[in-house]
Amino acid sequence: QLPVVAVVGRPNVGKSTLVNRIIGRREAVVEDVPGVTRDRVTYEANWRGRRFTLVDTGGWDPGASGMAARIAEQAQVAAELADVILFVVDATVGATDVDEAVGAVLRRAGKPIVLAANKVDDQRAELEAASLWSLGLGEPLPVSALHGRASGDLLDAVLEAL
Ligand code: GDP
Ligand code: MG
Repeated sequence: QLPVVAVVGRPNVGKSTLVNRIIGRREAVVEDVPGVTRDRVTYEANWRGRRFTLVDTGGWDPGASGMAARIAEQAQVAAELADVILFVVDATVGATDVDEAVGAVLRRAGKPIVLAANKVDDQRAELEAASLWSLGLGEPLPVSALHGRASGDLLDAVLEAL
């Protein structure tokens, strides 16, 4: 049984893009339309010779009523099955109410959390990532899932938390 890393966050922050980056393939479905990932999809991943199971979450209809509650619920389920939570936030948007709600759920789960400040495509955007300290989940790690920027540093932090 490999350790489990669950990738959690509201729709469209780049969870599936990050999963693809980590597994080095394009299997997780990335869409400009938020919420296309169905429920939970698991992949086997490997970083610096350590294998782990990576869980991509999603599957919410962003237009549905009670979306925030469903996302929080899904985050809770993912957190329960995870050894480490990789919480993804869109740094170009900043912390939204939904991010705050998910963060609160994750904190209660008591599992180690690595906070990924995604869509930091260039150095200029790193300032935006710093605003995510407000979530109270420790240091936001700036990363660009799309371009691979700093994704190695992020994975190092994940392994450290395992
Ligand atoms: P998910 O709903 O959280 O799984 O998000 P997706 O991985 O499907 O990505 C949603 C959108 O954000 C897609 O258009 C991605 O190309 C885009 N995206 C993901 N990561 C990045 C990034 O690091 N930088 C930028 N600029 N766009 C990104
Ligand atoms: Mg997805």
